[in-house]
Amino acid sequence: MVPRWAHSFWWILLIWGSSLTIYAMPPPPPVKCDETGCILSNSYGAWGDRIDCHVPNVTYPTTEEDLSLAVAQANKKRLKIKVVSKFSHTIPKLACPHSGNALLISTEKYNSGIEIDVDNLEVTADAGVSLRQLIDRVEEANLSLVAAPYWEGVSVGGLISTGAHGSSWWGKGGAVHDHVIGLSLIVPANESEGFAKVLRIGAEDPLLNAAKVSLGLLGVISKVKLSLEKGFKRSITYNFTDDAHMEDLFMDHAKKYEFADITWYPSRNTSVYRYDNRVPFDTPGDGVYDFLGFQSNSILVSKATRATEKGFEAARNVNGKCTMAASFVGFKKLIGNGLKKNGVIFTGYPVVGRQGKMQTSGSCLYSPPFRIDSSCAWDPRINGLFFYETTAIFPAKKFADFIRDVKKLRDLIHSDNLCGIDIYNGILIRFIKASQAYLGQPEDSVVIDFNYYRADDAATPRLNQDVWEEIEQMAFFKYGARPHWAKNRNAAFLKVNEKYPKLNKFLAVKKKLDPENIFSSEWSDEIVLGKEGGKGDGCGLEGQCICSEDRHCSPSKGYFCKPGLVYSEARVCRYSSSSSALVV
Ligand SMILES: Cc1cc2nc3c(=O)[nH]c(=O)nc-3n(C[C@H](O)[C@H](O)[C@H](O)COP(=O)(O)OP(=O)(O)OC[C@H]3O[C@@H](n4cnc5c(N)ncnc54)[C@H](O)[C@@H]3O)c2cc1C
Repeated sequence: MVPRWAHSFWWILLIWGSSLTIYAMPPPPPVKCDETGCILSNSYGAWGDRIDCHVPNVTYPTTEEDLSLAVAQANKKRLKIKVVSKFSHTIPKLACPHSGNALLISTEKYNSGIEIDVDNLEVTADAGVSLRQLIDRVEEANLSLVAAPYWEGVSVGGLISTGAHGSSWWGKGGAVHDHVIGLSLIVPANESEGFAKVLRIGAEDPLLNAAKVSLGLLGVISKVKLSLEKGFKRSITYNFTDDAHMEDLFMDHAKKYEFADITWYPSRNTSVYRYDNRVPFDTPGDGVYDFLGFQSNSILVSKATRATEKGFEAARNVNGKCTMAASFVGFKKLIGNGLKKNGVIFTGYPVVGRQGKMQTSGSCLYSPPFRIDSSCAWDPRINGLFFYETTAIFPAKKFADFIRDVKKLRDLIHSDNLCGIDIYNGILIRFIKASQAYLGQPEDSVVIDFNYYRADDAATPRLNQDVWEEIEQMAFFKYGARPHWAKNRNAAFLKVNEKYPKLNKFLAVKKKLDPENIFSSEWSDEIVLGKEGGKGDGCGLEGQCICSEDRHCSPSKGYFCKPGLVYSEARVCRYSSSSSALVV
């Protein structure tokens, strides 16, 4: 049992964490070098396999000519190449160069060019420009970018390369790459062409379908042209309600609201419907959506949250996790999930504001100098939150059955065993429209994201990990969901090559533009080709494999490879002892 005071403790911590931390420590640079060489990290400070990505050479071009020169010189010397932005917010090891002779090109310093064509409603940006820079410039011109991910800590090149999206089935849809109308791509060339050339790819060029979601595998994107619309405002209301009939309601919800989403807290039997549509530009309101999870957290609060969660994990205390989950969901309801009426505080619905302030957030990224008492909660320097992220993209017609299966599982195991994801952000449900991009979504789709505890070391099993594994395998294998390229554990990518019907077209373009596979590495091959790697002891614990033998789990700690409870084809690492962690 968790004492009553624990609820108050969480409320105090949450209020303190969100109100008293004004100054943020910017994220660490992803590439760190010393006399022995350089190491590339992702934003969580650990790759899926926890093995460092060693980088023999890194270069920081500042112009398109420099970028082209870097590709030419590497090609001439027969080096492999990868590109990374100043954020490196992609979780799988896509940007990690080949482990032999290779060059990493960072777009960190190639970030100043933003040209707006007001008459034609277009903007062209250098690939290293950050999403926030781009949005702010576009809004200054009284225009709006219609689609963007919810998180602003990404570059223009990185976000289109990975298929980043917000949520919408309307118009061109919620994926940013479907708003791309032109792109410049630097590819390897033969000696007579100077070893590199810039391809200017226009809206009608079929190459665009390969280049806009290209995972850094075709060449270096130098410039991206996006379509814009006249500046607009949005009005947002969150409806916290029960999760009954969600499987029958989600389609209508997505059709009724241009920027609809749903956050499902399955342990709380709660769904939060986002009612979110455009309103006329002269509607009063200067609101901001400053999503709670992307706000700056006091470092002490992040550490305390992690330490408490770790304690509950070690003690196998499901109730403790549920106390945390209930407090978080209650707090989010109280503060409108981060909506702020006049940019300062939430005082009630609806909140109306400009598109540039209502779609994308990430206030934890910014810092005035000399103050370092807060950061993004997952900052790897602070022993704060550390978690996995599963992002599965379903054909819309299959999604209702998936929800029914998760509810069936919940009924079987007791909803308290699902509290672990509700401590983070439950299951976020978003919508992406069918795309022409070869590695985009071939049909109208529904995306789910859920985050869950990751242990400090790879050999430590996690409370209820079988539950997340079953839901993960249900999504990817029973319902054929496609993994988001920029998130997920390795197991999610198994057989991904069979799920993208135009993957062969993409690979044919790659053969033409990069015949020597200069822009490939063993890491990106593993992901894109969906190969199963070697299955070592404990590989199931971290999603590096799907277990097929007990040794892939942790028999010495009581975790054995077992079938799923609802999806019996699933194979999951389940705790088994007389003192089972399941609350029944
Ligand atoms: C906290 C958080 C929240 C997120 N929220 C969302 C969300 O709401 N929606 C969503 O879809 N995703 C989301 N993501 C994932 C995120 O959008 C992607 O990871 C993002 O697109 C990465 O951008 P980046 O600039 O950091 O790219 P990087 O991680 O630097 O690179 C990503 C890939 O693009 C390639 N690349 C980068 N620049 C270039 C270039 N100039 N030319 C060619 N290839 C290039 C790299 O080689 C690599 O393969 C989130 C991630 C985090 C950590």
